[in-house]
Amino acid sequence: MVKAVVGANWGDEGKGKITDMLAAKADIVVRFQGGANAGHTIVNNYGKFALHTLPSGVFYSHVTSVIGNGVALNIPILAKEIKSITDRNVPAPKIRVSNRAQMVMPYHILFDQYEEERLGGHSFGSTKSGIAPFYSDKYAKIGFQVNELYDEEALKDKLHRVCEVKNILLEHLYHKPLINPDELFEEMMQWREMIDPYVCDTAAFLNQALAEGKEILLEGQLGSMKDPDHGIYPMVTSSPTLAGYGAVGAGVPPYEIKTIVTVSKAYSSAVGAGAFVSEIFGDEAEELRRRGGDGGEYGATTGRPRRVGWYDCVASRYGCRVQGTTDVAFTVLDVLGYLDEIPVCVAYDIDGEITEEFPTTGLLEKAKPVIEKLPGWKCDIRGIRKYEDLPENCRNYIEFIEKKIGYPITMISNGPGRDDIIYRD
Ligand code: GDP
Repeated sequence: MVKAVVGANWGDEGKGKITDMLAAKADIVVRFQGGANAGHTIVNNYGKFALHTLPSGVFYSHVTSVIGNGVALNIPILAKEIKSITDRNVPAPKIRVSNRAQMVMPYHILFDQYEEERLGGHSFGSTKSGIAPFYSDKYAKIGFQVNELYDEEALKDKLHRVCEVKNILLEHLYHKPLINPDELFEEMMQWREMIDPYVCDTAAFLNQALAEGKEILLEGQLGSMKDPDHGIYPMVTSSPTLAGYGAVGAGVPPYEIKTIVTVSKAYSSAVGAGAFVSEIFGDEAEELRRRGGDGGEYGATTGRPRRVGWYDCVASRYGCRVQGTTDVAFTVLDVLGYLDEIPVCVAYDIDGEITEEFPTTGLLEKAKPVIEKLPGWKCDIRGIRKYEDLPENCRNYIEFIEKKIGYPITMISNGPGRDDIIYRD
């Protein structure tokens, strides 16, 4: 059986925590898209960790962690991440890396930086991890799969061919130093040593695991709004963030994905540029940012302050729909305990027309939030384990949102820890 954990919104919904929690009962956790550009924050018995490439199951010794073929694999970063957790006494995780995963090249990271510099005020707010140039090359068919590290002659040849094109851009468009393909080849031979213990045909491994009745968790990165097709294009990421892509990026049959847990945070936050209808500013935003998440709404990878806003029912309903949600995990609810009244965005006003349908980007940029205010509960709800024990106003907030989005909220997260969870049937 395959279960997916994905985001309804702009990312940072708390997928890491939910995956870490669900991994207690899983055999395998798989990353199927994205790269080291976003991070998951996990708090457990070993401490607090920011993961970028490793799946959120690495802290359990019974879990095998898989980096699927759909991932943008940065080998030195993965090696560093493995070391950073084993250095802190986490038992060495069982890791498998797809021999079909493609590798983020040093020039992808450089092109990401140079292009953002070139765009100036029109930049995407990229994390500069090389993700967009990486996926461009993958689909332009000039990317490098992990298995290519094992055919030295062919690799050298291809590196020369690809670098020729890259160097033309470096010289004439960006006016930056050129790449030496022979040096790059030597660097890649070091990558081979780092990755060799983990490489295998992960799709075959996962299909075998399914045949044996194992439980697989697919861990998505970012959220629906950042999907290149269904999100706020072009302010999106460069690989699909939807559960459906899990079948491709992991290599499992689509019909095996039985449960799709879509994670949605009790208020909104976003990093990078792009329309964000329910965004708030000034002191109101600063207070929510400071109190938000676990230690404030600042990016796990970049440390950048996140943009924050009220819960957006329009975006979340759409975000849940495009994921194919079976269950919603509603997270970070404890943070809202300080508010007398909680504003919620229930519809958009686009040129005077009120709609609950999520529009395409041009219209989204014109949308103004239609806000409804719900009474706050004015207390700390951390530590509560039963739904009935939540304050009435808190239950009303959950039920109001559940009705608006139209998908069942079956889990409520009221703290960053593994046990801070309330199940609801
Ligand atoms: P992800 O990318 O979706 O995994 O989200 P992040 O890990 O970037 O952001 C979620 C942040 O919220 C992390 O700092 C988590 O430790 C924290 N977090 C997750 N669930 C809860 C919760 O229910 N309450 C609080 N206060 N923090 C939470």
